[in-house]
Amino acid sequence: MRLLGLVVKSYSNMYDVQVGDEILTCRVRGKFKKRSTTVMGGDQVRVTLTEPGRGVIEEVLPRKSVLTRPPVANVDQAVVVFSCRRPAVSLRMLDRLLVCVEEAGLDVILCLNKVDLASGEEVEGLRRTYAGVGYPFLCCNARAGTGIDALRAQLEGRISVLAGESGVGKSTLINRLVRGANLPTGEVSGRAERGRHTTRNVELLRLAPSGYVVDTPGFSYLELNMIEPGELAYYFPEMRDLSAECRFDDCLHQQEPDCAVKAVVQGGQIARSRYESYLSFLEEIQEYVRNRYR
Ligand code: GDP
Ligand code: ZN
Repeated sequence: MRLLGLVVKSYSNMYDVQVGDEILTCRVRGKFKKRSTTVMGGDQVRVTLTEPGRGVIEEVLPRKSVLTRPPVANVDQAVVVFSCRRPAVSLRMLDRLLVCVEEAGLDVILCLNKVDLASGEEVEGLRRTYAGVGYPFLCCNARAGTGIDALRAQLEGRISVLAGESGVGKSTLINRLVRGANLPTGEVSGRAERGRHTTRNVELLRLAPSGYVVDTPGFSYLELNMIEPGELAYYFPEMRDLSAECRFDDCLHQQEPDCAVKAVVQGGQIARSRYESYLSFLEEIQEYVRNRYR
């Protein structure tokens, strides 16, 4: 009998597959191994039980998304974590991360952590800017454990990855979200952090009542060079549908006359900081394209 399961952890040649409430230790069927597909964490697979607690992966079902860093399939959404202090948020960096998550095709949940270190005004300003984009906006204090239930509710039934600068509290949040999780936390240096994340295999941690969170943060590499200039506005949800109203079909919302995006920025419905991020990324991408053809 073939059972449907989810790969929650990969070792060198073995996989932990969650089938119902049980974890099966699985290898991959020999004939299947010769094909190019390798099995990844997050894969939906069909397995045959070989003995109690053990099985063989017979088939990988089609993936709906693939992340390469960390290597994990079928992620639905990214929780983008940031803080006002230790470290202080840079809106430009935050927007860059958001563009990368959008480009990967994931849904976004914004999580302002360390809310104990932010003033009410700061929180409201950020909430206004990003609620205008349409992203769910949550505030947490992972150290004290506040806001965690609301975050857990957003993760129900989905596979989520956390993203955000080092030190914003991603590991502390995961330890709060997942019963029994004990990820190392602290003010680690960039180098120690990288070491820590490449040596461990990716693991999907099971949430109660349902859902999974990837134990390794995603989107540490924030290059925009895979994006074409004309595509960029698509990754700013508040600009996405406005392009149709610009005078020119190929409007980049830069210097062009009768630009609907610029009109809305002027009117205040799109945050100026978001438009400035857009322009800055656009110039970076245009520069990249120029060099490509030189
Ligand atoms: P990561 O690099 O994003 O995984 O961050 P960590 O989870 O390792 O946290 C970095 C530091 O921030 C640790 O010393 C945590 O105790 C601290 N921290 C995490 N969440 C909060 C919070 O909500 N408030 C405060 N004040 N500190 C926090
Ligand atoms: Zn325009």
